[in-house]
Amino acid sequence: MEFTVENEKLYMLQTRNGKRTAQAALKIACDLVDEGMRTEEEAVAMIDPRNLDTLLHPQFDAAALKSATPAGKGLGASPGAACGKIVFSADDAVAWAEKGEKVVLVRLETSPEDITGMKAAQGILTVRGGMTSHAAVVARGMGTCCVSGCGDIAMDEENKKFTLAGKEYHEGDPISIDGTTGNIYDGLIPTVDATIAGEFGRIMAWADKYRTLKVRTNADTPADAKKARELGAEGIGLCRTEHMFFEEDRIAAFREMICADTVEEREAALAKILPYQQGDFEKLYEALEGNPVTIRFLDPPLHEFVPTEEEDIKKLADAQGKSVEDIKALIDSLHEFNPMMGHRGCRLAVTYPEIAKMQTSAVIRAAINVKKAHADWDMKPEIMIPLIGDIKELKYVKKVVVETADAEIAAAGVELEYEVGTMIEIPRAALTADEIATEADFFCFGTNDLTQMTFGFSRDDAGKFLEAYYDAKIFENDPFAKLDQTGVGKLMETAIKLGKPVNPNLHIGICGEHGGDPSSVEFCHKIGLDYVSCSPFRVPIARLAAAQAAINNVGK
Ligand code: PEP
Ligand code: MG
Repeated sequence: MEFTVENEKLYMLQTRNGKRTAQAALKIACDLVDEGMRTEEEAVAMIDPRNLDTLLHPQFDAAALKSATPAGKGLGASPGAACGKIVFSADDAVAWAEKGEKVVLVRLETSPEDITGMKAAQGILTVRGGMTSHAAVVARGMGTCCVSGCGDIAMDEENKKFTLAGKEYHEGDPISIDGTTGNIYDGLIPTVDATIAGEFGRIMAWADKYRTLKVRTNADTPADAKKARELGAEGIGLCRTEHMFFEEDRIAAFREMICADTVEEREAALAKILPYQQGDFEKLYEALEGNPVTIRFLDPPLHEFVPTEEEDIKKLADAQGKSVEDIKALIDSLHEFNPMMGHRGCRLAVTYPEIAKMQTSAVIRAAINVKKAHADWDMKPEIMIPLIGDIKELKYVKKVVVETADAEIAAAGVELEYEVGTMIEIPRAALTADEIATEADFFCFGTNDLTQMTFGFSRDDAGKFLEAYYDAKIFENDPFAKLDQTGVGKLMETAIKLGKPVNPNLHIGICGEHGGDPSSVEFCHKIGLDYVSCSPFRVPIARLAAAQAAINNVGK
């Protein structure tokens, strides 16, 4: 505070918010309530939800950071801080981590094959990719620090080196990255572990009391689901089933499915996949203890799953009884110029209905089994079809789902309700939501794709030019991180306005990355969504943001 006293009169000249760490902010807010100076609602409104990140992820030691100057900058794609030795491949990350080394995985971009390496690394740095790229989404789910899209890095993956700001970095060199700011530092800056403070629980309990928006999580593994439950998630809003096939034996079966030439071959591969899916779904249901679980059917750009290493190609050829040349030709045929607009989402279920059949059987069998063990749980699987743009696509895939599900339920001689809904992630789906709502039990906004397709920017490449957009003051923010309420938001509002009157029971959520961004959460509250769904570590942020939205918008 700055003040002056003149002629016995006090003048307040200016005040500023006191800078405080997240822990201090929580303590101050609780103390103010305990001392009767603030209400619970006011205390909840005082905390910046983004600051909670510092309680949930490691941070750089503040003193050490003071003397460090960034060598470069990318996108702060997954919060937290990390330091370690540079490695250039997932296998090296695993091998070095097994030797007790802390590593930072540096890649041009990541793909499903990198998952084990991403898990083994302290942090992930990529040259390409935006806020919804593979690296960003997967790292956020794991709670691992990630800086993506640092285009200033001149990468030479083959020779295990890169250049940044005139310096050449080699395998084993120390590096530090900040997934909140996107800063990259030469050398090791020590980190301090996250600790959830005592007051965190009190503030969160108050937040839960005042919010009306439910908070679910995007989780694909039982471990992520458990973590999200600990952090307060009330359901799974998105299980990306294509993320369940990264382990070696699974990816082999998945590749056999992709590379099948006939329905029989594909069905044989699917029969291998079904038990994995069913087992995983059972574990997810167990972790969620009767809370809703939305399973999204396969939505991979297929080419991401085909083998790239000669040895893996040979393995696949042997398993399929085909020649290496045949497999290579098949891989070539899967190449797409624009895979994000390609053969993915429900298009896969249209071309290969047997995939949707297998996934339905796995969902329903898992639910039946878990229900047997927990009769008191309200088991109602939610099957979500991705990338619908036309009601006829939904009808086509839904028919496969319903026939399979009903047959499974009848064969088991049990009663089980289930829902079939759709993602709204293609502008045409939003614009024809009155038609789509006649067939859907729920809508879930996939704002990653909806943003990509509304702006016509690739979600993986936009990072390259967005900086120029900020400089030119065309954009203030990355629309893949903070929802564009004017355009993309209008499509969401349109879909709700068109869909609800046709199907008043329609429940509506969001599972794009915006579901964990505070200002986007407020928008979702205002337009009347039932829930937001975000990665596990963003669940507390969404809970607090939802409470603030309810408190700030009372009577508006
Ligand atoms: C989306 O598009 O917003 C979404 C949640 O799906 P994905 O990121 O898997 O495309
Ligand atoms: Mg999508």
